Amino acid sequence: MRVHNFNAGPAALPLPVLETVRHELIELPDLGMSVMEMSHRSQPFDAILERAESGIRRLLGLADDFAVLFLGGGASLQFSMAPMNLLQNGARGDYLVNGSWGVKALAEAQKEGAAREAANTKSAAFRRVPTREETSLDAGAKYVHFTSNETIEGVQWPREPQTGGVPLICDASSDILSRPLDIQKYGLIYAGAQKNIGPSGATVVIVKKEWTAPNPKLATMLSYATHAKERSLYNTPNTFAIYMIGLVCEWIESLGGLEGMQTRAAQKSNLIYDAIDRSDFYQGFADKDSRSQMNVTFRLPSEELEAQFAQEAENAGLIGLKGHRSVGGLRASIYNAVEPESVRVLVELMREFERVNG
Ligand code: PMP
Repeated sequence: MRVHNFNAGPAALPLPVLETVRHELIELPDLGMSVMEMSHRSQPFDAILERAESGIRRLLGLADDFAVLFLGGGASLQFSMAPMNLLQNGARGDYLVNGSWGVKALAEAQKEGAAREAANTKSAAFRRVPTREETSLDAGAKYVHFTSNETIEGVQWPREPQTGGVPLICDASSDILSRPLDIQKYGLIYAGAQKNIGPSGATVVIVKKEWTAPNPKLATMLSYATHAKERSLYNTPNTFAIYMIGLVCEWIESLGGLEGMQTRAAQKSNLIYDAIDRSDFYQGFADKDSRSQMNVTFRLPSEELEAQFAQEAENAGLIGLKGHRSVGGLRASIYNAVEPESVRVLVELMREFERVNG
């Protein structure tokens, strides 16, 4: 029996996609082999790559001025690759830091170039995104980096930060393809696939082509120019993950695209936040106007009750609710593929647990 899966990543995948994969795992139609057994330079794989790329392009409304890459190394490698490629010749990057992943992105960038902290909400315990007043932007910066959804704290930017026209770089690992974006504001978006768009082992990088100029000083594999020129086929990519990303994109389209995902995410997250707000037993972690639609973080009156809740949930087939070890508490990750029904079961459990233990 499939469980109610609240894992933070790798995370739930759409059941119809998994069923297609199971059906095609041994033999893709007319090809006589699995996607994992075919050359990445073959015509059939080219069609699979094209299917994934065009799925992302259609969903986000990307024009030809963006390249879509499928790379290795996770979102973590992009913490380094982005500044390595972009902070050349004295260029400067601004970082908005409002959670654990933003801290890491900035620390890695500072090893590569002139990366500066333009805002940091650590003094507010990373419960919210920074206000404009507490942000000091460098008008001459090459980019402003932000983490659209901080997976650990459960803090999400309700809309893009305002930068006065400086292009955004976004770590969208935990909310990519969950809502429409104002794409013209972005120079680069990156995301590990393993939360909202596929299995682990592939990173989607969407980058303005003007940011992919060759730089002979960079290691070949670390240069966006290499992967843009070779359409992610300079080396052997994660062919299976790319295949699944194509299927997930089509599943998203079948449910109304990014608007459909946004409505679905709001309905799901509101169910849990309403349950939190109705009770004194549950305390939401994030400030209300920075609440994440993807990772709902909350606390109970004691760590013992939190452990008991996670255990009782697991016994009832609700998996992955324990908060990240660095912040504790509970976290329900409700990415695109998590069904509203799973959320209803969770809210029911919350009610019952409070009735017995509150
Ligand atoms: N950024 C965010 C927002 C994340 O949630 C994660 C993974 N949880 C990462 C970066 C790191 O991603 P990866 O494991 O793919 O390197």
